[in-house]
Amino acid sequence: MGGVEVRFEERHETPMNVQLLRGRDLRPPSRRAQISPVASESSLPTELIPPRTKGPTRKKALRFPVNRETRAFYRRFYPDTTAAEWNDWRWQLRSRIRTLSELERIFVLSEDEQSAVARHTGSLPVGITPYYASLMDRHDPSEPLRRTHVMAGGEYVRLPGEEDDPLGEDHDTVVPGLVHRYPDRVLFLATGTCSTYCRYCTRSRLVGNPGGEYQFNVRNWDRAIEYLEAHTEVRDVLLSGGDPLTIGDDKLDYLLGRLRAIPHIEFLRIGSKVPSVLPQRITKELVNMLKKHHPLWMSLHFTHPRELTPEVTEATARLADAGIPLGSQTVLLKGINDDGELMKRLMHGLLIRRVKPYYLYQCDPIKGSGHFRTPVAKGLEIIRALRGHTTGYATPMFVIDAPGGGGKILMAPDSVVGRDGDDLLLRNFEGQIYRYPDPAGAGEEPAGIAAAE
Ligand code: SF4
Repeated sequence: MGGVEVRFEERHETPMNVQLLRGRDLRPPSRRAQISPVASESSLPTELIPPRTKGPTRKKALRFPVNRETRAFYRRFYPDTTAAEWNDWRWQLRSRIRTLSELERIFVLSEDEQSAVARHTGSLPVGITPYYASLMDRHDPSEPLRRTHVMAGGEYVRLPGEEDDPLGEDHDTVVPGLVHRYPDRVLFLATGTCSTYCRYCTRSRLVGNPGGEYQFNVRNWDRAIEYLEAHTEVRDVLLSGGDPLTIGDDKLDYLLGRLRAIPHIEFLRIGSKVPSVLPQRITKELVNMLKKHHPLWMSLHFTHPRELTPEVTEATARLADAGIPLGSQTVLLKGINDDGELMKRLMHGLLIRRVKPYYLYQCDPIKGSGHFRTPVAKGLEIIRALRGHTTGYATPMFVIDAPGGGGKILMAPDSVVGRDGDDLLLRNFEGQIYRYPDPAGAGEEPAGIAAAE
């Protein structure tokens, strides 16, 4: 058993410890608080500080934490903002950093960033919540979170094979905002708004552009719902966008309620980046509303361990406590998270927060994304660094979403080496070959298994 798990079980739940674990107070523990024989909580990297479940200070826990760096940031750049405003998700959304001058008020921009922002028009504008900006380096344009959200000149370079709609979603759109590609499930694009705009977004063609070609409104929702009522083969609806958690509680409740009322729809999912970039959105009112629509699952978008702050710990704890199974999706990005050890830290930090690492995506060939894309071999290398070397739950599936609408294709390092008579030859995580007796399979190898030399 690892040190973290031992500490978690042995912890004495004093009020101070509860505060520490929920990230509400970053002061050192009092002498009364029990310290692990291995290390104190405060000596752990932030992403590995485990969250607490319900405890004696539950009432206090409903207040939202503010990590130390973020507090220093908002006091400096938003000095007239109260803590209540800062923790209000609507204030965060209203106050997003959207223009060159707003960026320049906070960041020391490179010439490349300046000119990229200045020449931008159309969809996928700049948009960064003040909270998420507080996690970025003000001076270093190569800092990972900053690179994913501040424009760079690479966005204007179109490489061969890149498309506006690389997954062919428009082709499979049956009514505006509803993509029906697989027989039993649909993608419901509920909104074009996100709390932050990721520079590598697969739907860059349609987000952040209210007057543009793609329209999202209740009339279109109703048309999509009529389609779903008529298509009894659909049992699973994934709400995405844009980000569905930018929709107000009442409207989202209406949409989930309409979908839940369709008898053949068994399963609802929400895809969202909000818990990592606007964790204050996960209010108790929101989770109480979401709980009414079970079975409801969520896929949360995380990129880097730096995102795993006390605020995110609180947001994921609230969702998990509401009985919402949480999975993660991460896009593999060059120079940002393309490193086995870093990815392991991210996956461990997610597991501790009850988020199951689900998908690791090869970056889609969206127009202007070449500076983010790694060779596919890098993703396989990362999976090799995880599989067998850490908890199986911490290993996501590495997938390529096939250009043109072929769906997700699982990419796995080869484990079947071949066959020797009745034996299948298998490679383990250390690269060693093992035999598995499989006489019934002799002569019936699936395509791709070569005879042993
Ligand atoms: S939050 Fe999702 S939909 Fe919005 S810009 Fe980022 S990747 Fe795209």
